[in-house]
Amino acid sequence: MENLIIIGSGPAGHTAAVYSARARLNPLMFEGAFAAGVAAGGQLTTTTEVENYPGFLSIPGPLLMDKMREQSLHCGARILTETVDRVDLSQRPFKVRAAGKEYEAKTLIIATGAQARRMDLPGEERLWQKGISACAVCDGALPFFRNKLLAVVGGGDSAVEESTYLTKFASKVLLLVRRDMMRASMVMQERAQSNPKIEIMFETLPVEVLGDKSVSGLKVRNTRTNAESILPVGGLFYAIGHLPNTAFLEGQLELDEVGYIKTRPGTAQTSVEGVFAAGDVQDKVYRQAVTSAGTGCMAALDAEHFLAAHSH
Ligand code: FAD
Ligand code: NDP
Repeated sequence: MENLIIIGSGPAGHTAAVYSARARLNPLMFEGAFAAGVAAGGQLTTTTEVENYPGFLSIPGPLLMDKMREQSLHCGARILTETVDRVDLSQRPFKVRAAGKEYEAKTLIIATGAQARRMDLPGEERLWQKGISACAVCDGALPFFRNKLLAVVGGGDSAVEESTYLTKFASKVLLLVRRDMMRASMVMQERAQSNPKIEIMFETLPVEVLGDKSVSGLKVRNTRTNAESILPVGGLFYAIGHLPNTAFLEGQLELDEVGYIKTRPGTAQTSVEGVFAAGDVQDKVYRQAVTSAGTGCMAALDAEHFLAAHSH
């Protein structure tokens, strides 16, 4: 039986692995085999430069995650490239099923992160990956986006980052923001405003993707006047936030209304004793690599204390 199983391999999972391995808990991590559509290593594997992780002036996201994985292994964590498809939290030891095999653990850390949301617009299913994407860094360099007018939907940091990245390839990028203001941090807003290849269109909401075999236009609605118009874009990128990866829990942990795991404030403790949560899967406010790492540390320390308290 395992002392601790960590599910998920972003900054939260790897920080939990480092701390718990150094505490001699001999943790086992399931890093996921393209779980929830993201490579092992999590969301940072889909971005370019990370400039706000302490200790690195600027580092490519995939490289940062490679380094975290290397550190987890170096400290003694074991990593399986498998996706957990079921857990049984009804009694201890907890049961975890992955790749048809069942594992038992005294404690669990859930660090499965979140995934990009889609809009389910008319035309989206037909044209998905034929001009519509939720990852500019993954798909933006494809030939069929080159020198085209592209649209990015969203008003957060991701939308600015994706738009900025796309200006390398596009003739111009329209950043479609549904409200009259953006959610992005000021530094990111300024980045978008000062980029001559980005035009920010406020109060603009996509309502239909046009095109037969590839995207040829986007019908949008002005959210204030309700007037509709067509933008002649050749590509559409979603940057409208994320959904927490909690479906595999099948309601066994208390979640909030959107599906994020609830933790007791100031701890990583979930509604089930001995099960801890860290990172974006339990955080809809901060959602940063460094805060994920921070809560990964909390989860590992909480698991260590729990094991110590229950060893007698
Ligand atoms: P994630 O990074 O989401 O990783 C979770 C991992 O768990 C994934 O690999 C997933 O496949 C795996 N998993 C899911 N389900 C299962 C399962 N059932 N079994 C096994 N494994 C599973 N933050 C910053 O601080 N700075 C930035 O510059 C920055 N840039 C970003 C750019 C983009 C494009 C995006 C999308 C996010 C960015 N963020 C940035 C946010 C940051 O990436 C996240 O806050 C952080 O990665 C969350 O870490 P996490 O450990 O919670 O989970
Ligand atoms: P956010 O949740 O911050 O922003 C989502 C945006 O999409 C909001 O502007 C929201 O509008 C809009 N939106 C949501 N649903 C729809 C819809 N159906 N139609 C149109 N617009 C919609 O997500 P992000 O992915 O931008 O950021 C997630 C986290 O990752 C944040 O914490 C962010 O700071 C971080 N991040 C940091 C980066 C960096 O520091 N370099 C880079 C990228 C991300 P509304 O505002 O009206 O709700």
